[in-house]
Amino acid sequence: MAKRDYYEVLGLDKSASAQDIKRAYRKLARQYHPDINQEPDAADKFKELGEAYEVLSDEQKRAQYDRFGFEGASQFGGGGDFQGGFGDIFDMFFGGGGGGRRQDPNAPRRGEDYQYVVDLDFMESVTGKTEIIDLEIEVECDTCMGSGAKPGTKPDTCSRCGGSGVETVEQNTILGRMVNQRTCSQCHGSGKTIKEKCETCHGSGHVKKQKQVEVKIPAGIDNGQQIRLSGKGGPGFNGGPAGDLYIVVRVRAHEIFERVDQHITMEMPVTFAQAALGAELEVPTVHGKVSLKVPAGTQTGSRFRLRGKGMPSVRGGGNGDQYVNIVIMTPTNMTDRQKELLREFEEISGEAGVEEQHGLFQKMKKFFSQ
Ligand SMILES: [Zn+2]
Ligand SMILES: [Zn+2]
Repeated sequence: MAKRDYYEVLGLDKSASAQDIKRAYRKLARQYHPDINQEPDAADKFKELGEAYEVLSDEQKRAQYDRFGFEGASQFGGGGDFQGGFGDIFDMFFGGGGGGRRQDPNAPRRGEDYQYVVDLDFMESVTGKTEIIDLEIEVECDTCMGSGAKPGTKPDTCSRCGGSGVETVEQNTILGRMVNQRTCSQCHGSGKTIKEKCETCHGSGHVKKQKQVEVKIPAGIDNGQQIRLSGKGGPGFNGGPAGDLYIVVRVRAHEIFERVDQHITMEMPVTFAQAALGAELEVPTVHGKVSLKVPAGTQTGSRFRLRGKGMPSVRGGGNGDQYVNIVIMTPTNMTDRQKELLREFEEISGEAGVEEQHGLFQKMKKFFSQ
């Protein structure tokens, strides 16, 4: 997903005041908070919102962002790295004076997103590949059905916080008596206490499990492209939706072929005689050998196009092309006989004026005669 402009995210323009930013953020944060909004993209929107607010609410970060865009903001730790900031933001707009209401421990929560890197050979990126990947994910414990309590028993509502997961503490400070809220110290925010713990998961309600996922990597995938498998990440909590699995594809370089967008380029060695006389070459492509006629007098650096012999498109549709760059091989380790013939060739060439026919030689001659 392309990153949206932070002002756009908050529905404001660049002239917005600090007040405007705060107001817009509070309004949208309530609307998209994943505890309130059940739409599948609410969590993403909320995260995007938090990131935008983090930068625009900070004068220095905002100035950097105005001047340099996302690059500028990320120098200060904004942008991208926003995971895990939920609690803080929640405090900020519901609470006041520290603490504040925590996320309801029993509310549905989306499962974790996972990322997995798949390495492909160049040819595998041409044909596509079905890969079975092994993931270790957290799943609900089968023994206790996620409750964490020994089968036949039930977790109790935490006596300290009454199930809210939050406790109120009073402190005497120099400023007087302060009331703060913090995560319940007895249940650690879950809102429950378990007398007899499930032996399988030791009371957590989750166990690690190996999971195999089949991933169809489409033909034509490029290095660095990502495939998102919706709902194949970690399972949700309290009935929330599962997270996503992101497959990042890396493609190894090939000895002969080089990819440029949807096209392939390669260098084709040709002997001096083939280039001079013309020849029918057998050219390798990722789709098999193809014959290519090069005309007499082909120069080094000449480029020929083989239509439709490039990379397939991941979205379907036609292949790219292959570009064949001709490289003329100067003969080495010649026998006496070969040398003799070449000398003779050179002598005749001079007489026949072969050199003069070549534009480059004419330019050189002109240069020396100045
Ligand atoms: Zn508690
Ligand atoms: Zn269990």
